[in-house]
Amino acid sequence: MCKVPDKTALVTGGSRGIGSAIVEKLVKNGAQVAFTYLSSPEKANELVNKLTVNGAKVIAYQSDASDHTQSKELIEKVIKDFGRIDILVNNAGITKDNLIMRMTEEQWDQVMNINLKSAFNLTKFAVTQMMRQRSGSIINITSVVGQFGNAGQSNYAASKAGMIGFTKSIAKEVASRNIRCNAIAPGFIETEMTHVLDEKTKENFLKNIPLGRLAQGSEVADVVTFLASDQSSYITGQVLSVCGGLNM
Ligand code: NAP
Repeated sequence: MCKVPDKTALVTGGSRGIGSAIVEKLVKNGAQVAFTYLSSPEKANELVNKLTVNGAKVIAYQSDASDHTQSKELIEKVIKDFGRIDILVNNAGITKDNLIMRMTEEQWDQVMNINLKSAFNLTKFAVTQMMRQRSGSIINITSVVGQFGNAGQSNYAASKAGMIGFTKSIAKEVASRNIRCNAIAPGFIETEMTHVLDEKTKENFLKNIPLGRLAQGSEVADVVTFLASDQSSYITGQVLSVCGGLNM
């Protein structure tokens, strides 16, 4: 089991789905965790109350990851409240699916801003602190769709492919300061994001997954914990797929 004792993590979009599983796993493995949400304060508070036991420190912040100024202010608040940032997980993301002929400019912009610009916003301000500390681990949650594409998801696929290029570039920029940057590409995970898909789409996906099932958020969270821990100290610039073999 990978441990992250005495490390401080910031997870964007930690109120639900994969993000909440990541928050929970990091706390259980010894980290102090700051996480963000956009529109679900009840879920965020519920998670804070559930995890704030046995001396654990968990704070939720309402902050729009796609907003540059809010991201700067968030990092300042987290440093004030926790004193440091060792782990950044860029997890916040949305889908606005449509075929290209019907896709609106708004659908394109929203997905690019929330999925990709958010990673720029948070990484830019967190890296300054990590450089001072001379250590850090940045983990970007991309998707197998960013590697293989998907009809009806050109905006989502472009944002997630962009995240992979971003990950590899940041890894090269900051490696000399002992800061690592990796991406995780989940396949099909059971969350509210996938609950909206119709049964036929889900069945089609399942047919192509060698392990024959959807994954739980906790299975992505295990890989985040590994990349956040010192046990992955020689891994940077990589994309780890958590997709049941979907990409084979
Ligand atoms: P989800 O259940 O829909 O949860 C999305 C999370 O992102 C929520 O906590 C939400 O906050 C937050 N969020 C949305 N917009 C935000 C913004 N502008 N600023 C800050 N937080 C924001 O999604 P999920 O399925 O857990 O997905 C998490 C990540 O994994 C995404 O990046 C997604 O693309 C990626 N992923 C998911 C799957 C999958 O099968 N589910 C597969 C591959 C990759 P509120 O609760 O406040 O709305």
